[in-house]
Amino acid sequence: MEGGVGAEREGRLRALLARVADPEIPVLSIVDLGIVRHVRQDADGRWRVGLTPTYSACPATEAIRSAVRTALDAEGLTDVILEEVLSPPWTSAWLTSEGRQKLRSFGIAPPEETVASPRRLWQAPLVSCPRCESRSTERVSEFGSTPCKAHYRCSACGEPFDYFKCL
Ligand SMILES: [Zn+2]
Repeated sequence: MEGGVGAEREGRLRALLARVADPEIPVLSIVDLGIVRHVRQDADGRWRVGLTPTYSACPATEAIRSAVRTALDAEGLTDVILEEVLSPPWTSAWLTSEGRQKLRSFGIAPPEETVASPRRLWQAPLVSCPRCESRSTERVSEFGSTPCKAHYRCSACGEPFDYFKCL
């Protein structure tokens, strides 16, 4: 059964991708981040995995690509082609709900809005505290532990936290 073999291979590829961690936020897999655009077999019989970079200035992009390649090769899947999908661009809306939950339990506030929101162009986003969910938070510095995170502090409970802003 051709379809059965294809489905089995796709499941294996997706399971493998779900084990590749984001280098900046290792609690998230690249599947949680929503950057895996497609896993498919084309008419030429070859499997292709499409990845979208989270942010062009993110140094993590190359690290993610090579981590996926290494994982594929380790499973003997050297014939799988990795493709970069630049359009449409990734937005934080692609973070899965599981990924958002993982961010919160890791003490990072998930992005509230996507880059498509016009309000974001005019003012800083409203950021909820990952501990008490208060919206009275203040930005302490533009850059947190990595360029993709800003450092915030909750005015309600005093909790310092990173806000994931790599849009
Ligand atoms: Zn708080």
